[in-house]
Amino acid sequence: MEKQNKQTYIYWDRVVIALCIFVLIIIFIVMGIKGIINAFTDDEKSKAVQAANTDTALIGEGQELLVCIDAGHGGEEDCGALSNDEKRFESNDDLNMALAVEKNLKKLGAEVLMTRTEDKYVELYSRPEMANDAGADLYVSLHRNSAQTGQGVEVWVNYDAPDDDTLLAKNILEGLDEVGISQNRGVQYGYQGYDPTAKVNYVVNEKSNMPSCLVELGFITDDEDNRLFDENLDAYAKSIAESIVKSAEELNMVEISNKAEKN
Ligand SMILES: [Zn+2]
Repeated sequence: MEKQNKQTYIYWDRVVIALCIFVLIIIFIVMGIKGIINAFTDDEKSKAVQAANTDTALIGEGQELLVCIDAGHGGEEDCGALSNDEKRFESNDDLNMALAVEKNLKKLGAEVLMTRTEDKYVELYSRPEMANDAGADLYVSLHRNSAQTGQGVEVWVNYDAPDDDTLLAKNILEGLDEVGISQNRGVQYGYQGYDPTAKVNYVVNEKSNMPSCLVELGFITDDEDNRLFDENLDAYAKSIAESIVKSAEELNMVEISNKAEKN
């Protein structure tokens, strides 16, 4: 008697199609879950951004504040001070900080005039001239210090200590001190390296028509100051921008509106 042949015929083409459909379904499920997760986290993110914005003091609507941010030095002709290993140029640090301050000032509703936005040489006297020509309200020059020994942050204003300049310098210094600096070297008057009784100013302070100051944001020759500068670049920039706007309000240049209070 012949054994019954129970062998089942396998339709391989159908198996392949079924597998493909199965894989596609799995892909769709995974993508769907991912989409839901992303939508959720984006929502959380936008909520966080909104919360941050409502904390921020904003320049009142219809008001204008033009701030000149001057990144010190620039270009091959003038790289400013150098770190001890001569690999770090002050001109780059000044520019990075200036760009970050610009971004933060714009967030607060200020207009910003930059003396440079790239690594290029800008003649010293043309810097305050740009601010004067544009009718800027405030002028802040950003630099880094250098010395064989020494660390900390100092802000320079005119030797005759105009109240408005001193207020701007103090606000910036206090803000940076709150973020964290190695040493608060105070508001300084005149020009570094000269006889303190000599009547000499930094060119940017001397030639600018509006309240101005020159910030020496730590020593490029000090490892701790460089570490603090790098770690706190964003926090320093935010603080400087907020201090500038706060100064503008205290000098009755603008009124500050706070979204949180408005709503
Ligand atoms: Zn400098």
